[in-house]
Formats: sequence, C-alpha cells, structure tokens
Amino acid sequence: MIDAARNLYMVKERIAQATREAGRAPEDVRLVAVSKTFPADAILPVIETGQRVFGENRVQEAQGKWPALKEAHSDIELHLIGPLQSNKAKEAVALFDVVETVDREKIAAALATEMAKQGRRPRLYVQVNTGLEEQKAGIDPREAVAFVTRCRDVHGLVIEGLMCIPPVDENPGPHFALLEKLAREAGVEKLSMGMSGDYETAIAFGATSVRVGSAIFGNRPYFAG
Ligand SMILES: *Cc1c(COP(=O)(O)O)cnc(C)c1O
Repeated sequence: MIDAARNLYMVKERIAQATREAGRAPEDVRLVAVSKTFPADAILPVIETGQRVFGENRVQEAQGKWPALKEAHSDIELHLIGPLQSNKAKEAVALFDVVETVDREKIAAALATEMAKQGRRPRLYVQVNTGLEEQKAGIDPREAVAFVTRCRDVHGLVIEGLMCIPPVDENPGPHFALLEKLAREAGVEKLSMGMSGDYETAIAFGATSVRVGSAIFGNRPYFAG
C-alpha cells in the first residue's frame, strides 16, 4: 500500500534541501500536491498531515471530490493545472482558488466574465508551451509577454505567474530557464514548474511552486495527461 503521508514528508524534506542548496529561503517554494485520478479517501490522509495546497487537471473530476473536502477544510487551496475549455470557466471560477492554465484570449475573456459575475477572483497563471509541442496546451513563448499584458490591459486580469510542463524526453533545465526569463520580462513573480521527476532542478532554476503527484500518491491508475 502507498503511504502518501510518508511520501509527502519525504518530498517536503527534499524540497527543503533543494531550496537550501539554491540559497533560497524555505518559504520561497510551495508544494502543490497533485491528486488527479485519486479518490477523496486517498487524499484525506495527506490533508490530515497539514498539506493544504492541491492540484487537479480536470474540472469535472475535481467537482466530484473537492466541494466536500473544501467544506470540511475551509483553508484548502485548489489549483487547476489542466487545460481549461471556455465552456467550463463558470465551474472553474466557482471551485478553484488558482487557475494555472490561462493560455489564450478566449479563456482570459471567459474567466474575466465569470469572475465579475460570481465576485470570486481565483489567482491566475499563464501556461507557456516552452517546448512548442503541438499536443500540449500553453501559449507560444514568443507571445507570452504580450499575452500577459493583454490579460491585464484588455481583460482586467492580474496574472500572478507563469507555468510550464517541459517535454518529457528533454532536459528540463533550459525550459525552466526560459520560463524564468519570460516571467522577468512580463513582470510577474511566480513560477510554477517542476513535477515528481524534476522538482529539485526546477527549484534550482527559481520555481516558487512545484506540482508533485506520483511521488506522493503513487503511480496513477490511468494516463491523465
Ligand atoms: C499530473 C501533473 C503533474 C504531476 O505529475 P507527477 O509527475 O505525477 O508529479 C504536474 N503538473 C501537471 C500539469 C500535471 O498534469
């Protein structure tokens, strides 16, 4: 059986170590525990250790388990880390505290409309497709800075940071470095980068949050993007 609480403890130790080695302050790096595909009873032991920040990649799946968990633990912070369709903007704004996958004009507009309607303001990141992969979501890195500006000036959205998922078969370092450079150019502070296989590298490149799933919850029962 997977001991997610124990795995979480070890991941946090390694994050602390990597943060120290990078000469950064411990509170500089947050852990987003990625619970996609896992049911509430697998997530609860992790909540009980005090972990409060979680990531899900599908709106519909998250709607099935998180409203009750959030009801029971009001300080949970839920991140949407998967692609968002504009017809799901309403549900996303209602449930998520952070949306990390703003990557096109239509989504920015839909989020702005829903945020005004609902009076809820989830924090927002722009996802950048640093590897220019056809099958992957995210804005073209060459358009990222201008897009952040348009989100602010055209849609009235505050973009807090950038997010990326490097290509699986490449050295992630150059992708993390590119994201850091784009964030500086765009004038945003947060960098969501690094997963189970590369979060220590991401921290060395300036990640302010890492999204770790399988190293905590174990291998996923099915492919989930
Ligand atoms: C699934 C997922 C993760 C976590 O991946 P692991 O390799 O299991 O840590 C991180 N970010 C995104 C966007 C994901 O979809």
